Amino acid sequence: MGKINIAIDGFAGCGKSTTAKEVARRFGYLYIDTGAMYRAVTLHFLKEQIPFEKDTEALTKSLQKLEIDFVNGQANGKRTVTLNGQAVEKEIRSPEVNAAVSPVATLVSVRHALVAQQQRMALRKGVVMDGRDIGTVVLPDAELKVFMTANMDIRAERRLAEMQRKGMTATLEEVKENLILRDKIDSTRAEGPLRKAYDAIEIDTSYLKIEDQIEIVVDLAKKLISA
Ligand code: C5P
Repeated sequence: MGKINIAIDGFAGCGKSTTAKEVARRFGYLYIDTGAMYRAVTLHFLKEQIPFEKDTEALTKSLQKLEIDFVNGQANGKRTVTLNGQAVEKEIRSPEVNAAVSPVATLVSVRHALVAQQQRMALRKGVVMDGRDIGTVVLPDAELKVFMTANMDIRAERRLAEMQRKGMTATLEEVKENLILRDKIDSTRAEGPLRKAYDAIEIDTSYLKIEDQIEIVVDLAKKLISA
């Protein structure tokens, strides 16, 4: 088999993006962080003060003018997300965006626009995409689908450590509350809810080291590619 597409879904704080990024690097594939795309749209609505309680004409119009892309960062070669040409990697991780992103991600117009873009990005295969609806909606034909879970306390601790590494401050309780709320909104929305695809392989990462979870996904992908 030639290039494959790899879909990695699951809850926040399970190590999806770290795994997806490294798996992509190992195979020379493109890593696409779809959460960053929902975050960039959210940042745009917040900045432009566009109400996002429901789909409106103003909201749909503003989506048409929106350009979200990934570029290679100059300093460290890291891929960063851009919003209308501006690098917004740091701003999209703010507490304000954390609080608003799941409500924004329930909007049908937002999901349709982003899903279409994500599907275009994966057309030529060789993509590792992480998110919530990749195996079910965006790439239902992905050759490898992984669904990650982990214990809530461990997820909250991981997320807090990640935020602290990036110089952000929050309490464990605040991080946990945000994760619980986002899980609930993400799992219960009508459009593209967070759900394990029937053919996804579930990995509980609670007691796995990040290197081990990367190795599991790399092995699964290798078997498929060499089949
Ligand atoms: O992956 P991350 O935690 O950055 O995603 C932020 C939010 O974006 C999620 O909580 C979810 O509401 C939304 N999201 C989504 N569908 C995706 C990726 C992210 O609804 N494919």
